[in-house]
Amino acid sequence: MVTLSETTPSSATATRLTSMAWIGLDDTDSVDGGCTTWDFHLLLTHLEDGGFRVVGYPNLVRLWPFAPERTRGNAALSAELLTDSSTSNLADVLEDWFNNQYITNKSTENVVGSESACPVLVFTETRFPEEWYWNAVRKYVNPNDRLKDVTAVSSAIIWTKKDGKMSSNLARGLVGASSAIAWRGENDCTWEATAWRIPKNIGSRRQVPSALVGSMSDKFPKTILNRDPNAGDSLITPRTPCPVLYGIRAEENAVAEQAHNWLQSNEDVEAAIAMRVHRSNQATDDHIKETCYGIVISKVREVKGGHASLHVFDGQKHCTLVAFKQGGEVNRLLKSLLVGDLVEWRGLTSPNNEIHLESLMCTEGVPRTLSRPNCKCGRKLCRQGIGQPLRCEQCGNTQESVWVSTRFGSIKQWVEPLCSNRRHLAKPLNRQAKG
Ligand SMILES: [Zn+2]
Repeated sequence: MVTLSETTPSSATATRLTSMAWIGLDDTDSVDGGCTTWDFHLLLTHLEDGGFRVVGYPNLVRLWPFAPERTRGNAALSAELLTDSSTSNLADVLEDWFNNQYITNKSTENVVGSESACPVLVFTETRFPEEWYWNAVRKYVNPNDRLKDVTAVSSAIIWTKKDGKMSSNLARGLVGASSAIAWRGENDCTWEATAWRIPKNIGSRRQVPSALVGSMSDKFPKTILNRDPNAGDSLITPRTPCPVLYGIRAEENAVAEQAHNWLQSNEDVEAAIAMRVHRSNQATDDHIKETCYGIVISKVREVKGGHASLHVFDGQKHCTLVAFKQGGEVNRLLKSLLVGDLVEWRGLTSPNNEIHLESLMCTEGVPRTLSRPNCKCGRKLCRQGIGQPLRCEQCGNTQESVWVSTRFGSIKQWVEPLCSNRRHLAKPLNRQAKG
């Protein structure tokens, strides 16, 4: 099937039909999503050299952080392609590339992790339904169910290792690759300029001085999440020995590219071998459906290591809220809550049904410490005994026996972990969605 591009004149004057297709790639490396970006860049470059054109920007999509056997990053990539030739030609090119990259010649440029990876490449002429993305970013998707869904799309082709035979293990990457194609990002999106290292540098310390990342953040205010605002540390370089040199996140595609060019113009920064700007769901909070609220109904339980949890009632059911030590302010606020406090939260329900908090706010607090009021003279009034009024020892003044309470200080203020401890998907409190 050949689809007419919306931007192509459909009149008889059009000399050629322009075919549109989607490709998605996932799980080329089991340690960090970063290497999938490199492989996908190699693939897109190969396609561009062969006369195909990437429409707009490739997509870097993060998915459900609790997906089994996946790391925190859980990233997949996709792109829309435009071709003057037939899509069957494109499928042939993809097949050759996949076989060359992962089956016959996997050691040449695919430096890290290819042994344990189960790469999946997907091609389709019909874009997958958006619902596939929302399912995969918010909950568990059974790989075999997704395999059935993809194979039901007549134009779809899947390549994996082992001669295309899909075990459930191999189908794992299919969830990511197909969901990356299904992502629209019309509600919100961000951008990332991903730069890769010259092969001989891979494994060595990345030369990207923190001070320069700080200057970059100041010079390009529309870059985001590039340094820890408190510690001042750079957050753009990965911690794994993967081919990624750095990823600069930004609210605008042009800014991401400009910031990269500015960094590269500085001789103290390691030279990149290549760079590509990706459209992304990072920092959009797509993984969390809604803000919830309820009342605290248990004391805080603190376990070794500083992790804390308590129970709340949300009007319908009891929930367990969990804040890990790395949660910083979220952990501190949770530990200061008392039975009766009203709270709002955003979090992710874990496979064992606890809610892992990503942000938290106390909207109303029960009275904290109870004490006796002060006398007119400023001294504290003292209790004398049962049925007796309070009395000031300084001036002898007496007053009816009452208690006064202090209010809870941390009211109506959302808190979040430091950005170095947040998920890629987490939307910073100070970020506005674009939608
Ligand atoms: Zn007094």
